[in-house]
Amino acid sequence: MSMFVDQAKIRIEAGNGGDGCVSFHREKYVAAGGPDGGDGGKGGNIVFVADDHMTSLISFRYKRKYVAENGQNGAAKRCTGKSAPDLVIKVPRGTVIREAESGRVMADISGDEAVILAKGGRGGKGNQHFATSTRQVPRFAKPGYDGEKFDVVLELKLLADVGLVGFPNVGKSTLISVVSAAKPKIANYHFTTLEPVLGVVRLDDERSFVMADIPGLIEGAADGAGLGHAFLRHVERCRLIVHVIDVSGSEARDPIEDFEKINLELSNFSEELSRCPQIVAANKADLADESQIERLHGYISEKGLPFYVISAAAAQGTKPLLDEIAKTLATLPPVKRFEPEAIPEKAPEEVKKFTVEIDSDGIYQVDAPFMEPIMRTINPDDWSSLQYFERVLRSSGIIDKLEQMGAKEGVTVSINGFEFDYVD
Ligand code: GDP
Ligand code: MG
Repeated sequence: MSMFVDQAKIRIEAGNGGDGCVSFHREKYVAAGGPDGGDGGKGGNIVFVADDHMTSLISFRYKRKYVAENGQNGAAKRCTGKSAPDLVIKVPRGTVIREAESGRVMADISGDEAVILAKGGRGGKGNQHFATSTRQVPRFAKPGYDGEKFDVVLELKLLADVGLVGFPNVGKSTLISVVSAAKPKIANYHFTTLEPVLGVVRLDDERSFVMADIPGLIEGAADGAGLGHAFLRHVERCRLIVHVIDVSGSEARDPIEDFEKINLELSNFSEELSRCPQIVAANKADLADESQIERLHGYISEKGLPFYVISAAAAQGTKPLLDEIAKTLATLPPVKRFEPEAIPEKAPEEVKKFTVEIDSDGIYQVDAPFMEPIMRTINPDDWSSLQYFERVLRSSGIIDKLEQMGAKEGVTVSINGFEFDYVD
């Protein structure tokens, strides 16, 4: 028995940008050439794209870490480092991607467009850019920017217009197999449907819709007690639910109780799901007598729901049901897409505290106590040390703040009293 995997947590790491290069032009008989260090290349993005050949997230159980390449470092003679290619991750259509830490939706891979989830870092500028009239020998370059790196949760939420729900063995798989080309397993024992099956139902040239056979729900499924709970997320996107009931009570259950139990499962799973429009299909009519059918019919009519009597195995009564489905769908909004959610504000304790003020001499005065220990280790004559310094300034948000306040090439910045020229 294979297991249907529709949820996975993976780590994605976009590539870092390559470092800029420090180098000076050298030519025979020329004493001191100008700076010619090239820029670093860009790091690879992590990109997601839908693949219709994939039906589950099983491959992500085996490979959990996806790392794009880094950009190459710049080189002498103004050579820009090579940018790294994007790392493309294929997922089944309908996969919703959330940031693991915050739970926010980042993307819904339902369309055909590729979505960049983690951006590769920009390359750092080489020293070729940093020569000025007062600084003819720039012995530094910029480090590459870090690529974005985080954990994401993938969740497959099938794209279907109509979801079939009901107890095991009521005939859901049989119904989808007679109205579409889908070929799910049909058997007279519970839980034969272990993965959701999609089928395209074509009524005529104009009207078609996608139906999903959702594995049987059992009591307590919404509390995770049995098979079924995990599958409810596939109904979440459905525009319409067709509730299949064994009207004959062939398994010695009461059809009305079945109806109520399944609806309770739906509302326990989500309020939204319980508000989804429903059509009732009373199946196995061939095994039922008139009074059984009338009893359920009366009950469902009182609830104000459309009621259709069918015998799926013999494909009887299915045409009026399909017409009703198509008619109802025409009045409903399209399949739900999950919109990306905003990045939550960081908690204040996570943010490193600093202040920036422009003094009367136009110097950008930064007061950042957390920089003290770092400042003590910085060697201004060593460019790798300066690169480290730059990285800390970026990651703490100081560079962003300086730019917001209008800092431009050549202004003086003072961090805890250590003054330097700002280099853009
Ligand atoms: P599911 O678990 O809801 O997907 O149910 P299945 O489609 O696998 O059907 C369960 C059993 O009911 C199978 O043996 C089917 O042949 C049988 N069945 C389905 N529809 C009908 C029907 O209209 N009449 C009768 N008599 N049996 C049916
Ligand atoms: Mg089935």
